Amino acid sequence: MPSNKKLLVLPGDGIGPEVMAEVRRVIDWMGRRRAVTFDIEEGLVGGAALDAEGSPCSDATVARAKAADAVLFGSVGGPKWDGLPFEKRPELGILRLRKELGLFANLRPAVVLDPLVEASSLKPDLVRGLDIMIVRESTGGIYFGEPRGIHTDAKGRRVGVDTEVYSEDEIARVARVAFDLARKRRNKLTSVEKANVMQSGRLWRAVVTEVGRAEFPDVELEHMYADNCAMQLCARPKQFDVILGSNLFGDLLSDLAAALTGSLGMLPSATLGAVDPATGKRHALYEPVHGSAPDIAGKGIANPCAQLLSFAMLLRWSFGLEEEARLVETAVERVLAGGLRTADIMQPGMARVGTSVMGEAVVRELEKLAA
Ligand code: NAD
Repeated sequence: MPSNKKLLVLPGDGIGPEVMAEVRRVIDWMGRRRAVTFDIEEGLVGGAALDAEGSPCSDATVARAKAADAVLFGSVGGPKWDGLPFEKRPELGILRLRKELGLFANLRPAVVLDPLVEASSLKPDLVRGLDIMIVRESTGGIYFGEPRGIHTDAKGRRVGVDTEVYSEDEIARVARVAFDLARKRRNKLTSVEKANVMQSGRLWRAVVTEVGRAEFPDVELEHMYADNCAMQLCARPKQFDVILGSNLFGDLLSDLAAALTGSLGMLPSATLGAVDPATGKRHALYEPVHGSAPDIAGKGIANPCAQLLSFAMLLRWSFGLEEEARLVETAVERVLAGGLRTADIMQPGMARVGTSVMGEAVVRELEKLAA
């Protein structure tokens, strides 16, 4: 039966194809047992695309990504391509996709699953049950602002310049994503900036306040300086529900929050674009937080959970398949509770397994959950 859910799968390099194979196993199961089917295309990206197509993300791949309802991305890069000039780097594949699809809101959940509570860098009591979502503006701010560069000043000294620039519409659109998420969760949004020392921070605070008052008066909004937020994340992380920050602050705080959860191999992410008013659809790309892990690629030992949980986010945010998303998340948690571990999250007394045994175990749990 043809499906109306168009999915572009881009496994990429290194462990990307290995962990993506486990998602395909789950997709097959969904078709078989839940009658949830996708119209799937697969393409090349990163180093694999450079080798085969001469570019880390070809025009044809961009066109297919634009035509799809969602893109599931693996990871790109590796030592084979490290010596290439900047414009040929595999990492440009993901940057181009983000830009061409207008993906401005990066969502990174930091969830501590019960079986992995000991893997956190904090004491178990501080993080047990932790479930926060960091929304990072991902196309503007200091990573792109002009002027930028290194020049020599009148005294002959080298001077490095980066510029934090945000327009009110850039702030408002990412704030809307964050408010909307908070509404679907525990109804609390913490917006972070440095309004005490940065002009862009003053505007950020003002615009988020305006959007909140006008469109989301039911959502509790608090403002917090970014440095205080970093401290609070370490001291009392469970006070947060959704945290919203600029490209720079969101980058730092989401990495900090990742450390609270333990392993890179467990962390999914989503990057969303604007909703098209005509169709109600939005471009979206889902990917694990980790890279292509060249040090373990080809060994069959990568943890597939981050990729599987990215697929769960895709089910929820692009297709509204909340029940299926929860099934995948619960199956992953149950596999861990049952004692299986890939090497990156290995703990004493647990059973060490490889990528495909982990994926098979997730499908077995799905089967039990659906029975
Ligand atoms: P990395 O995330 O690939 O690896 C960091 C460490 O974590 C490694 O020791 C790796 O073995 C381990 N690790 C990561 N994912 C794992 C998993 N699923 N299971 C088990 N262990 C896992 O970061 P890196 O080493 O800094 O970068 C390697 C390459 O990936 C580089 O070329 C980098 O540019 C690229 N990269 C790509 C993306 C992306 O595709 N979005 C993101 C980050 C890095």
